[in-house]
Amino acid sequence: MNTSYQLFIDGVWREGSDGKRVPVINPATEEAFAEVSWGTVDDANLAVESSQKALSGQWGTWSPTRRGRFLLSVAAAIRRNTAELSALFSKEHGKPPHQASSEVEDAARYLEYFGGWANKLTGMTIDLGQGQLDYVLREPLGVTVHIAPWNYPLDIFCRSVGPALAAGNTCVVKPSREISVVTLALARLFQEEGIPAGVLNVIPGPGTVLGKVLTEDPRVRGIIFTGSVATGRTVLQSAALNITPVVSMELGGKAPSLVFVKDESELDGPVGGAVGAMAWNAGQSCGQRARWYVRRDLYEPFLERLAPRVRNLKPGPATQPGVDLGPLVSKKHYDNVMNYIRLGIEEGARLIAGGGRPEGVGEKGYFVAPTVFADCHNGMRIVREEIFGPVITVIPVDSIDEAVALANDNSFGLSSEIWTSDLTTAHLVASKLDVGHVTINGSAAFGFEVPFGGVKLSGLGREGGPEAILAYTRLKNVWVKLGHG
Ligand code: NAD
Repeated sequence: MNTSYQLFIDGVWREGSDGKRVPVINPATEEAFAEVSWGTVDDANLAVESSQKALSGQWGTWSPTRRGRFLLSVAAAIRRNTAELSALFSKEHGKPPHQASSEVEDAARYLEYFGGWANKLTGMTIDLGQGQLDYVLREPLGVTVHIAPWNYPLDIFCRSVGPALAAGNTCVVKPSREISVVTLALARLFQEEGIPAGVLNVIPGPGTVLGKVLTEDPRVRGIIFTGSVATGRTVLQSAALNITPVVSMELGGKAPSLVFVKDESELDGPVGGAVGAMAWNAGQSCGQRARWYVRRDLYEPFLERLAPRVRNLKPGPATQPGVDLGPLVSKKHYDNVMNYIRLGIEEGARLIAGGGRPEGVGEKGYFVAPTVFADCHNGMRIVREEIFGPVITVIPVDSIDEAVALANDNSFGLSSEIWTSDLTTAHLVASKLDVGHVTINGSAAFGFEVPFGGVKLSGLGREGGPEAILAYTRLKNVWVKLGHG
């Protein structure tokens, strides 16, 4: 396997301008398994320059149909390379193989969905009366900058680069410090499928430096940011400098799940959902169901069923068969999550499962045991703040109105869930939740064909679905006086 990765700028693999390289750490072993070139301000400028040049080069002559076919061919290449991409991904991120390959599949699906859209974008004509023609052109924005987090790097790469390219834009992608080489491996597939030079640039490097330079560059005409609220605020300030359109800003979440099933016989679904909230991506998901509001008569039965299933989850390295969840992505993040677990105990929550480092994983690796805190309330920081690890909080409630009020009592508004067999309750609650995404009796539909995004501190704009691709275009109105005199 390749153990040395370079920047991808202007269709060429190259070292950073100052030759710096940084180690790539496997979070399950804490050992470096590769190194990656580290981009500089000069590299960022070169990337934007090449993306701008590419707009009027060969790329500009590609028809929408050709762009769409190209994205479909990259999607097929991703599928052909699933095994290799997943193995690298597991090494860099820690995800167990089934979770890594699931995200590789998601990446391909985004490109297929948006590839299909490429030749379906239209403008319009507007009737202004006799002797006049008015038409509206739908054009690409131009150079777009994509700043990505580490938790779903392939998924997030394709959900924004896919529509950007489908609509005819060019892209400069800055992956996160923790996860960059799998993104570069993905870029190699775009290159092998024949992307013209400069249309896609991928430049790992220091976030605060490159992020600032890229988002403050007046040549950039679209910013797509996924990450934390704090960085999101900085990006908005940078965008304000040149009034650069912010296509979308996908920030954090602290999703509530409301358990209002008929009786104990229907608890299997929500209990499985709570287990998944800790196991999937080790809880490092913006849409993680982190706050469980359970009707009081179901509360103890819910916890009794949940505890043994959580204790049975197997944390471990991706190389071990049968692992349910991997390590957290970095030492910094591991320390952060462990601090929240200590805080939960200090705040007086009742520990039902987990609560520290799991047994049997040895001393190396950023592993955290799936952790359930019960008897929580909305005043606790572990309920209010995004922990972003395999930790959930459980709270008893007396009525659906109380559950909705508590669910909405949070500064985030990304995702949410309700468990009930009562249709009226389900739809009424869906209409009252102050979020961008509601699921009923399960968790799915986080993108592709449907809009995904948040309200409040969770961000702005939507990724996935028709609205997403329209946001990567701008409108130009053209008025014509017909005839003379
Ligand atoms: P982060 O904000 O620390 O970093 C995100 C990206 O911003 C990284 O690439 C980083 O290098 C870059 N960056 C850092 N400083 C910058 C600056 N000054 N200007 C521009 N860019 C800069 O976030 P993270 O820790 O990588 O990701 C975790 C966060 O992302 C969580 O809050 C999570 O909820 C959120 N997230 C949201 C979604 C969603 O769809 N809503 C999806 C995934 C992750």
